[in-house]
Amino acid sequence: MSIIVQKYGGSSVADLARIKKVAAKVVATRERGHDVVVVVSAMGDTTDELLQMARDVHRVDQPNGAAEVVAVPIKGTSDLSRRELDMLLSVGERISMALLSMAIHSLGCEAISFTGSQSGIVTNDSHSSARIIEVRPYRIQDELRRGRVVIVAGYQGTSYKKEVTTLGRGGSDMTAVALAGALGAVACEIYSDVDGVFTGDPRVVLDARRLDSISAEEMLELSRHGAAVLHDEAVSYAKRHQIALHARSTHDPDSRGTEVRPDGWPDELLAAAAIVPCAVAALARIVSVSIKTAELVPAMKCVDRVFAGCGVLSLDAVGDTATLLLDPTNCPDVEAARETLAGVVGAAGLDTARGCVTLVGHDIGRTTQWPMAVRDCLNAGGLSHYDLRVREHSIRVLLPGEDCPLALNLCHRLIP
Ligand code: ASP
Ligand code: MG
Repeated sequence: MSIIVQKYGGSSVADLARIKKVAAKVVATRERGHDVVVVVSAMGDTTDELLQMARDVHRVDQPNGAAEVVAVPIKGTSDLSRRELDMLLSVGERISMALLSMAIHSLGCEAISFTGSQSGIVTNDSHSSARIIEVRPYRIQDELRRGRVVIVAGYQGTSYKKEVTTLGRGGSDMTAVALAGALGAVACEIYSDVDGVFTGDPRVVLDARRLDSISAEEMLELSRHGAAVLHDEAVSYAKRHQIALHARSTHDPDSRGTEVRPDGWPDELLAAAAIVPCAVAALARIVSVSIKTAELVPAMKCVDRVFAGCGVLSLDAVGDTATLLLDPTNCPDVEAARETLAGVVGAAGLDTARGCVTLVGHDIGRTTQWPMAVRDCLNAGGLSHYDLRVREHSIRVLLPGEDCPLALNLCHRLIP
């Protein structure tokens, strides 16, 4: 039988009623004659709540009622705390996997849940941002042969040291794609609140439209620059392993969603079509670190420690100063990390008040037309303090964080 991997995000399993709906969807897929492997995220905001508990347990109240102090920042100081954080955060997905399995049972269909470790997901030992190095899905295959639906806890694996690891925020997509690859699945469907990939974040851009399809290259630029629909590592993995991803809505049974094409656009199509942007994404908060060349080595060591697993957006060296831009999404405690780093590069070298807006489209950075159009539309909208960076398939604007929503809307108007 053909295998379908379905992944359901946190909002799709936020409460028991929604878990039951997902169960019905899974059973319906099974009844259409497929073997089904389901990857689940933690329920609703569980991961954030667990993280907050980890931060709180590190805070010590002063006896005189004065401001609390943080005993040990939860990330950046010790590998031990990152290990314990993974032990804690991996629990979120285990709750949803067991409940979904029970819900499927109660519909008269056999199901069994597995943790990342039981599913054979082997990672490196980089706690809180581990990379998958191998998938050995033998237990999953055995259970599928027995006719069961297999539910897998997303976002986690086990290191070669047999430690529980997590894959970075949003990492359940990664679990789904890696399993789809290892199992030779015919489809990898990523279900969430939104009906696929939009031209802009529909919560900020009111006239954002759904895209029928997008190339993995374009999607990667969007995911790296703030589009939360699909995890960037997952898109990159799907591209490397030629897995087609389908982003769809959990709630809409007629959802057409978006197909992410791993092999990109065919040459005939590219030759015939005009070069135009297809979508825009924003990161409202990025970390910018300015480092004097003489301090580069100790500063980079500190960055690697406190912002481990955070995506590097760019690194530029001009004169005797290097500037590093980071997406801090995977950092569990940005304030603690900032404090530690300020001790090395000085507070003046650190800026967390800027964001970036990125316009994406095949080859748009190889024209002069589109960078100019971005500049013109920002100026016309009254924005003047920004830096522009052009890459092959994207044009990135760095600007004060509070200007991001306006810039996002202005750039969105350039999409035909
Ligand atoms: N629950 C994790 C997170 O919120 C992983 C995921 O949802 O994919 O980041
Ligand atoms: Mg989540």
